[in-house]
Amino acid sequence: MSNDATPVFGTLALERPDQGVLFVVSGPSGVGKSTLIKKAMARIPGLEFSVSATTRPARPSEADGREYHFVSPEKFTALVAEDALLEHAAVYDKRYGTPRAPVEAAMSEGRSILLDIDVAGARQVKQRRPDAVWIYILPPSIPSLEQRIRARGDTSEDVIRRRMAQVGQQLAGAREADYVVVNDDLATADAVFVGVFLAELVRRDRRQKATERILAS
Ligand code: 5GP
Repeated sequence: MSNDATPVFGTLALERPDQGVLFVVSGPSGVGKSTLIKKAMARIPGLEFSVSATTRPARPSEADGREYHFVSPEKFTALVAEDALLEHAAVYDKRYGTPRAPVEAAMSEGRSILLDIDVAGARQVKQRRPDAVWIYILPPSIPSLEQRIRARGDTSEDVIRRRMAQVGQQLAGAREADYVVVNDDLATADAVFVGVFLAELVRRDRRQKATERILAS
């Protein structure tokens, strides 16, 4: 049930929280993070994806402003100097950062937002916004992760070696995040992942408007 005073939050008809929730998702390369994110975004359509700025070139399937804002290294440096980024980090020699203004606007309007960022970036977000919810995706084991990266088949041995070297640093996030989702069986991981979003969205301290309205009815 919804009316003008109670906007529907996505197709689940879940009312928007009093303040938008900032969700941060990270995990090592090859863990299946983007599949889980896509599935969750489809299930909770009110959730918005934050489009990062990056200095890496666009892949053929990517469009500027959709997957990323593709910017020059000079432009990126200017964004950092202006404090226009909520966080930023270097990943595989390229720079990535989250534009701050759209995140802050969304949250103040009760819209929730999802950041797909690396562990260094996630730490910065938690420092600046302790109310952010950090979810870490873990593989069932480290050898299985290397297997998955190799099975993709579209990466050279050199890239695989560099990715595995980065994995060590990224895995530390599993000890720091608020939630850990193990992506072994996809259906299970998907259900657990979506469950985290839903649980956070219905925390009592984020539901005061809806609660009081119902209690006063
Ligand atoms: P890709 O270049 O494959 O799209 O992304 C490489 C890595 O960069 C991924 O692990 C992704 O999570 C991370 N990443 C993407 N956007 C951002 C961002 O805005 N900030 C940070 N810190 N990492 C990001």
